[in-house]
Amino acid sequence: MSNLQDKMFLELRNKALFKQVQDYSFEYLESVLERNVYPTEEALENLSVFDEALPLLTSKPENVLEQLHTYGSPATTATLGGRYFGFVIGSVVPVGLAAKNMATYWDQAPGLNVLSPIGSKLESVVERWLVELFGLPEKTCAGFVSGTSVATLCGLAAARYRILERNNWDINKQGLRNAPQIRIVTGTQAHSTVVKAVGMLGLGQENIEWVDVDDQGRIRADLVPEMDENTIVVLQAGNVNSGSFDDFETICKKANEANAWVHIDGAFGLWAGAVEKLKHLTKGSELASSWAVDGHKTLNTPYDSGIVLCSDEEALKAALHASGSYLVKSKERDGLFYTPEMSRRARIIELWAIMKYLGKEGIDEMVLTMYERANQFADEIREIDSFYVDNDVVFNQVLVRCDSDELTEKVLSTIQELRECWLGGSEWKGKKVMRVSVCSWTTTQKDISISVNSFKKALEIVLK
Ligand SMILES: *Cc1c(COP(=O)(O)O)cnc(C)c1O
Repeated sequence: MSNLQDKMFLELRNKALFKQVQDYSFEYLESVLERNVYPTEEALENLSVFDEALPLLTSKPENVLEQLHTYGSPATTATLGGRYFGFVIGSVVPVGLAAKNMATYWDQAPGLNVLSPIGSKLESVVERWLVELFGLPEKTCAGFVSGTSVATLCGLAAARYRILERNNWDINKQGLRNAPQIRIVTGTQAHSTVVKAVGMLGLGQENIEWVDVDDQGRIRADLVPEMDENTIVVLQAGNVNSGSFDDFETICKKANEANAWVHIDGAFGLWAGAVEKLKHLTKGSELASSWAVDGHKTLNTPYDSGIVLCSDEEALKAALHASGSYLVKSKERDGLFYTPEMSRRARIIELWAIMKYLGKEGIDEMVLTMYERANQFADEIREIDSFYVDNDVVFNQVLVRCDSDELTEKVLSTIQELRECWLGGSEWKGKKVMRVSVCSWTTTQKDISISVNSFKKALEIVLK
């Protein structure tokens, strides 16, 4: 037997191997829009073929790929298609998928300019594009991370650094023990990842000053406590259930007068600011100090793609990299100063490709279409007796319920079993609801009608 290195050199030059994957991919793309949205029972049972001990011997790569295709593909959820309404899940703009493919072969790590000049270049370019698109302060910088969870962690770390620094306290050197107290103010509907970040940063979840919300889940601006320069306020662009937006203008103005730090969790909602007809929703958001937003939700980039934006570049960099770093900054952008990781994949490539392809008009049209489809859904479902829409559909989220929690839950599980569309449940104003999130460019008017029909079918089955 030849040695492993020789074998792998042959494989690297084996076009058939890479073509095999391409053929599988085309097959997948051809069926994913039409097929069952959730895997069948059979596909789920077949996953047991993966339950094996680590093989002793090296095998044929084509067999590895074949196993993945045969048993892996059918056990995916069709999130690329137009009838996946669970969580807040984007599809992928085709050019992004193709660009990611190319980037896969490049296998770049854009932490340092010398490590990936192309990665570094695209990060600087997209940083400027985002700042302009969202109308943020000119000095705002961006870090390209895995998602909004990490982006929020970074934004709050920058806030923590700056607030303590103003108190002559170096968080990196002195830690939190005996440090001046930082106040956290947020709405009772803040996303769980905000609470998680507060915990991870040692700020203490019990220290959160919770502010009541209105009937759409928006923080009550009139109930926000007096802020001061040691306060971090976390606001929300896009409530994960109702899709509502906080009153940024009122709260940010007050916060700025008090020299408090405002962080906005805009995972999917910040993109409303890029749409002419919807940008009233994010009015005043530019007055914050940091923002977290996803590419992989509303913009429909591949996973994993999140962005932290921060108008205090020094604070973000200091928070993510303790001083005395041996990594001397080059003249060009060194991405690792803006993220917690040193090594990470060049997710910027597909983010750039999608923004370059869509342009401002394309982004506007794509996001507005999601809003229109969500409203189509709400309009069609309201036509059916015993379904109620429980939120104002201001963006892409629709909350639907039946007359009782029990009925809502039964209908939801029946919809899931029908597999024509997929969505999850939540609780809204003390009642069980079915949560419809329209976040995919692939969702057509027909997809909405098929899905509404699935709701109707499920109700009939349950009531029978
Ligand atoms: C999805 C989401 C998050 C978390 O983002 P990830 O990209 O999954 O890490 C945070 N906040 C809101 C409002 C979200 O919708």
